[in-house]
Amino acid sequence: MNDCIFCKIIKGELPSKTVYEDDLIKVIMNINPTTNGHLLVLPKEHCVDIFDIDEKIINHSFKVIRDTLYPLLRDKLGCEGLTLSENNLLGQEVHHFHIHVTPRYQNDLVDYQYNKEMLEDLDTVFEKLQNK
Ligand code: AMP
Ligand code: ZN
Repeated sequence: MNDCIFCKIIKGELPSKTVYEDDLIKVIMNINPTTNGHLLVLPKEHCVDIFDIDEKIINHSFKVIRDTLYPLLRDKLGCEGLTLSENNLLGQEVHHFHIHVTPRYQNDLVDYQYNKEMLEDLDTVFEKLQNK
């Protein structure tokens, strides 16, 4: 993808702070971190979102997050937990699949804002989700 900033980062045409790399993925520091050590896992092959990605990449990414990135963040930065997130369609700013790896610290105040007034009754939503 010619105009994709993450493809440019993967090819080395744009700078990044790379903390891990292998044949399938590159892991960079988020330029606008939520917490210290906020990382982005990027597949090397361009794909847009979860509807587009090869599941082999997902499996590999989660294995690297569990076995390599979490120990790194825990041992070097002292995080005590990890929040993983990934935006698709609405809310996705960069249209090259990426998993946010957000280290969590005691009292980090990371929180998600949401509109409680939009919430329907739990039973109503459950009923809608039944395949009848
Ligand atoms: P999303 O809303 O999930 O698409 O988030 C895209 C993320 O990419 C944001 O958290 C940005 O801070 C991050 N980002 C954008 N440009 C760069 C860049 N050049 N290097 C590192 N992170 C970036
Ligand atoms: Zn791309």
